[in-house]
Amino acid sequence: MDYKVNALLENDGFLCACGKEHFGQLSDCIIGENALVSLPDICRKHRVTRPFVLCDRETYAAAGEAVCKILSSAEIPYTLHIIRRTHPAPDEKIVGEAFMFCPNGTAETGGADGVIAVGGGVINDTGKIVAAAKGIPDIYVATAPSMDGYASASSSMEREGLKVSLSSKCPDAVIGDAAVLANAPVHMIRSGIGDMLAKYVSVAEWQIAHILVGDEYCPVVADMVNHSLAEVRACAADAVRGDDTAVCRAAVCRLAEALVVSGLAMNYAGISRPASGMEHYISHILDMRALEFGTPSDLHGIQCGIGTLMTLRAYEPLRGYAPDREKALAHAAQFDADAWNDHLRTVLGHGADAMIAGERKEGKYDREKHAARLETILSRWEDIQHIIAALPPSAELEQFMRSIGHPTTAEEIGLSRQDMREAFLCAKDIRDKYVLGRLLWDLGILDETADNIV
Ligand SMILES: [Zn+2]
Ligand SMILES: [Zn+2]
Repeated sequence: MDYKVNALLENDGFLCACGKEHFGQLSDCIIGENALVSLPDICRKHRVTRPFVLCDRETYAAAGEAVCKILSSAEIPYTLHIIRRTHPAPDEKIVGEAFMFCPNGTAETGGADGVIAVGGGVINDTGKIVAAAKGIPDIYVATAPSMDGYASASSSMEREGLKVSLSSKCPDAVIGDAAVLANAPVHMIRSGIGDMLAKYVSVAEWQIAHILVGDEYCPVVADMVNHSLAEVRACAADAVRGDDTAVCRAAVCRLAEALVVSGLAMNYAGISRPASGMEHYISHILDMRALEFGTPSDLHGIQCGIGTLMTLRAYEPLRGYAPDREKALAHAAQFDADAWNDHLRTVLGHGADAMIAGERKEGKYDREKHAARLETILSRWEDIQHIIAALPPSAELEQFMRSIGHPTTAEEIGLSRQDMREAFLCAKDIRDKYVLGRLLWDLGILDETADNIV
């Protein structure tokens, strides 16, 4: 199968070997040299005659200004809104602001009949919400290959100080201009690479969850993600060169394509499994603490990269490990859920409430449910061993990350080892999703593993 973005878009709705028809939702993706020039054609194709152009000051300079010039020369009238704050947060304020400046009404009466979001994740997520609510097309012009949410149908936001994923819409078109992407801050390019490294863990955990708790798994989608990951490994060194050479531009385009494919993989699967696992939850915990207590945080992909390294280290002792039924049962029997909930509140503040409420519904700490899961783990341990054996050694990944200047330690992003230990322990409670933290808890070895890896 051809995993190039445009082959996938052409083949949308294909009947897969897994028995499902997979839909990517994205209609156009133009990544490469002079990609911005195609904007008027994309507008015409999606019947956008009076777009609302949304950007912030930095992304206006990076690509917004060029977008406006191109629209003007194509005689497409537009309304421009530049968010004045530097690094606007993905919260109520930016969504409200976007709605307040996006003209209402039909195109005939001067209303916007499409959104062109120019920026990174926050602007993209905001544009998707506005376009979804107004029922108009959404065109995304990427300014940095920093994360894989380009083509997702949801928006990662902060609502009343809590991280939420709001269902919005997948952009109708994604445009990534080589010169714009290559001029993105190198840290943002590393973040895109970190978000892709996460796929080592997410794909393995998707397989493990399929075996243990019956999550629907598709080997074709998993293969597609692995292929994108290999592409990123191959282009990463050139992508972080930070110059405007043809080599660097080609590499950031490959990275951006891989990020789009990763987003498509989630759309195909209908779940986030292909692209997010334990490492993403570690990153979420760091974000939640930053929101609640103002602790340091870094870009999503950078945190995911560090989370991936930690998670790979934690998988390593499981190679050849012989699960101990008695130890696991004794651990579950003495587990004090109330004390653990108090601990979550201390570590995460009021963000813990939703997690605790989720656990009340789910009951993963219930002893009978644990005992049943443990029997499945024991009977399928050999299969799990095969999945773990296929993971790359953490030392190899660490060396690779260092070679491209990607942070590998808590200290490099302003955090302590203790912060990372807590993030590792609490990650299993974020959502009802079977990740490494849960497997370790089920085996009764979560705390000792956390001690060993930090
Ligand atoms: Zn499939
Ligand atoms: Zn991610």
